[in-house]
Amino acid sequence: MRALILNAPGQLVLADLPIPEPEAGEIVIRVMAATTCGTDLKAWRRGHPQIPMPGPFGHEYSGVVTAVGDGAPFRVGDEVMGVHSAPCQACVWCKNDQENLCESIMATKVLGAYAEYLLIPARIAALNVFLKPRELDFSIASLLEPLACVAQGGRELKKAQALRVPAETKVLVIGPGAIGLMFVAALRSEGVTDITLAGRNAERLAIGAGLGATTVPYSELVPSDYDVVIECTGMPEVWERSVQLPRRGGTVMWFGGCASGSTVTLDTGRIHYDQITLLSPFHFGTHAVKQARQWLIADPERFEPIITASRTLEEANAIFEDLQAGNGLKYVIRP
Ligand SMILES: [Zn+2]
Ligand SMILES: [Zn+2]
Repeated sequence: MRALILNAPGQLVLADLPIPEPEAGEIVIRVMAATTCGTDLKAWRRGHPQIPMPGPFGHEYSGVVTAVGDGAPFRVGDEVMGVHSAPCQACVWCKNDQENLCESIMATKVLGAYAEYLLIPARIAALNVFLKPRELDFSIASLLEPLACVAQGGRELKKAQALRVPAETKVLVIGPGAIGLMFVAALRSEGVTDITLAGRNAERLAIGAGLGATTVPYSELVPSDYDVVIECTGMPEVWERSVQLPRRGGTVMWFGGCASGSTVTLDTGRIHYDQITLLSPFHFGTHAVKQARQWLIADPERFEPIITASRTLEEANAIFEDLQAGNGLKYVIRP
C-alpha cells in the first residue's frame, strides 16, 4: 500500500508498505478521507514530541472496514468514523471523569491515516470508532477528532457552569483557524447565537461570518460583557490579553496550546476581584467523541466550510507548504 512517512521536518515521502493485518480486537480500514491538522503542521515544520520521525503520519480519518481480528466490534464493509486514541477507563484520571488525561491515552494512539490502509488497535476500535451513516460524506466524518477536542472544551465549560442558558450566553472566540471556526459551528449547534469571532485573517473571518458569528479585527477587540472567551491561537500574548476581555465572573478558556516552556503574566486583580474562571482543556475523552459525532450527523453542512479542498497523497508536501503560508484551513487527503 502507499503510505506517507514523515522522515524529517519538511520531508514527507511516499513509501510502499505491506497492508497491515489485524490481530484480536483490531480492525483495518481502507482510508477514504484523512484531514490535515494543526498538530500535523507543527510536526511537519519542526517535529513534534508526540509524532516520532521517521514514522507514519496523519491521525484524522474515516474509511471502510476491510479486515477484522477475532472479537472486533465491526464487520468487513462497515463505513466508520473514529479518532486515534482511547482512554483505559481504569486509571485514577479515567475514574475521576478526566478521561482526556488518562495515563495511557497517548501511549496507545494510532498514526498513519495518510495511507491507503490503517490498522486500528483494539482499545480504540472498541471505544472510539463508530459506524458512519452512509449519507454522511467521508470528508466531514474525518473531522471527528478535531471536533472531539472542541467538544471537550464545551464539556469543560458546562462543568464550570459557563454555558448555562445557550440563548443568553455571549461568547467571544479569538483565532479564526480551523479550531476557532469549529467552535463557532459547535456553539451554533448548541443553540448559542451571540458569538463574536476575532482575528487577523479577513478570509477566515468571512467564513466565521458565514457560520453566524459577528466578526471583529483582532486589533479592534475591546473588553465587553462576554460570558465566555475562548482563546484558539496558542500565543502567550493572546492568553494574557484574553483575561482582560470577559465580564466580571466570566470564564476564559485557553484552548490553543503554547510552545512548551512558554510563560504568561496575568492581572491578578481580574482573576481575584473580578473572579475570572480559567480553563485550559487538553485532548478529549469518550463523551466528547460521542458529542462531536452527534454534531456532525445532525448538521453536516454546518461543518463543510472547515474543509478547504481535496488533495492526493502525492501532493502532501505542497499541502503543508500551503498551510504554512496561511492558505487554506484544512485539506482532506483521499489516499
Ligand atoms: Zn487533529
Ligand atoms: Zn485511564
